[in-house]
Amino acid sequence: MSPNKPGSQELVAVRDLKVHFPVHQGAVFRKKIGDVKAVDGVSFHIDTGETLGLVGESGSGKTTTGQAIMLLEPATGGKIFFEAREITGLDGKKARLLRRRMQLIYQDPFSSLNPRMKIGRIISEPLVIHGMVNGEKDRQAQVDELLETVGLSPAMAKRYPHEFSGGQRQRIGIARALSLKPGFIVCDEPVSALDVSIQAQIINLIEEIQEKFNLTYLFIAHDLALVRYISNRIAVMYLGKIVEIADRLELYRHPLHPYTQALLSAIPIPNPILEAQRKHIQLHGEIPSPLNPPSGCLFHPRCRHAKKECAHLQPQMREIAPDHFVSCTLFDS
Ligand code: SF4
Repeated sequence: MSPNKPGSQELVAVRDLKVHFPVHQGAVFRKKIGDVKAVDGVSFHIDTGETLGLVGESGSGKTTTGQAIMLLEPATGGKIFFEAREITGLDGKKARLLRRRMQLIYQDPFSSLNPRMKIGRIISEPLVIHGMVNGEKDRQAQVDELLETVGLSPAMAKRYPHEFSGGQRQRIGIARALSLKPGFIVCDEPVSALDVSIQAQIINLIEEIQEKFNLTYLFIAHDLALVRYISNRIAVMYLGKIVEIADRLELYRHPLHPYTQALLSAIPIPNPILEAQRKHIQLHGEIPSPLNPPSGCLFHPRCRHAKKECAHLQPQMREIAPDHFVSCTLFDS
């Protein structure tokens, strides 16, 4: 059994995905001194209409995983499948055509919106590039519909990005992502840069459009609080590897990996009495550099359960309960 065992409606799958970046030294001879293993043997699948939450600290490889699936970052190893077809290594026209079906919602929508273009042009740019507009009237009609879908007025099409708030800009980013009618969207920390008061509105919008257009999501976030309600299943990533993957409720009720337990214990409970009683698990130190990762279990320098052998044994992914996989020697039988 493996965490990538296919579902009946598997839309996206990665098998043993690796994205390594060579590191060079010296200005002239550029001698290779190693690899940054940003993604190192990651496997999972996402069924049609499902949301897989991908969680981990900054530097865990989540964004690179999303970029590799979108073919924006070449895979160094492993395979990527979309609609049961292998897409690893596709480039040129084939990759461009495929990207119509896969879109990205960015963390910082402002940086992805051309400041000199009016919103109507920004939203319709992908439609024009892919030849999906039939004249100016049709372009405007499609822009109006997209703006209304994301809760903005069609009259806003004539404004520039700087005239919008952070939440409105993210709505524009979502409208642009929807313009090509994709089936799959990588949501890369889409609300992390927004005020807490706005975050819930954008999450609601992301859920509404999922239902309306039967979208499938890879939802990337740096903490478990954000993915709690939006995900069907959650994968926890640490230093380029998935350490635990399970159904959302199962993961919150029975977190097994010491890293997942620490991430969960950092989520505040709204009830002050319960909050005062609970035990917080402190995660000591920073995530190590992927250029010089620890031996054995990558988490061992920060793990409160680490045993001697954890420094040299690499734990294997095991299915501990139905569809609940964890990689930790505490669960080796
Ligand atoms: Fe901690 Fe050892 Fe499990 Fe790694 S394998 S998470 S160090 S107990």
